[in-house]
Amino acid sequence: MIQENLNTVETKIREACIGSGRKREEVKLIAVSKTKPVEMLKEAYDCGCRDFGENKVQELTDKYDKLPKDIRWHMIGHLQRNKVKYIVGKVYLIHSVDSLRLAEEISKEAVKKGITVSILVEVNVANEESKFGISAGEAVSLVEEIAGLPGIAVKGLMTIAPYVENSEENRLYFAKLKQIYVDIIHKNIDNVSMEELSMGMTGDYEAAVMEGATYIRIGTGIFGERKYT
Ligand SMILES: *Cc1c(COP(=O)(O)O)cnc(C)c1O
Repeated sequence: MIQENLNTVETKIREACIGSGRKREEVKLIAVSKTKPVEMLKEAYDCGCRDFGENKVQELTDKYDKLPKDIRWHMIGHLQRNKVKYIVGKVYLIHSVDSLRLAEEISKEAVKKGITVSILVEVNVANEESKFGISAGEAVSLVEEIAGLPGIAVKGLMTIAPYVENSEENRLYFAKLKQIYVDIIHKNIDNVSMEELSMGMTGDYEAAVMEGATYIRIGTGIFGERKYT
């Protein structure tokens, strides 16, 4: 089932790339494996997936221990400061940094371990009450503040768009994230390299690719519906 799902996703990514004049290599697929058992991640790994996304620290570190070490783990969920120490050194990219205090904690752990941690700043572009992320208006100044911290490298921006029936409705939010990204590039901030735009999930990734996503995060579309108990 996973291979078939990946084929479907791949076809749609290619179509969206063609439709928007982008190269397929510009878009990286993250298999969002939260709530799914290790066996399913192994199956996806055997199909060629190397980027996996998790939203809980405990689940990420458990799976990290059980799976091959060439996997790039992406922390995509809300991160509490007291849990930062468990993932620094294990995650390839933290997508969900939305405050200076959280960034300071990541910086502290990175310096302690002698590494640099790559992060994205999460922006709540649609201004939804229920979502984490810094507001669009505060995003540039947060990036500037984080840029001054040691052991941390800002690589881009992330957003979670609203749930919609028709993914076209989210295009304006993806375009808005891209605009903030371009504004930051023009500021030429030291220690900030805007390379990544993490946007688009199962319901709206084609629209996100059209608007410039470099990372799309797909769970249901690869692993099927999640059951929460
Ligand atoms: C769960 C999750 C996804 C994947 O959602 P699907 O709709 O299942 O593709 C993507 N991004 C984040 C931040 C998530 O928490």
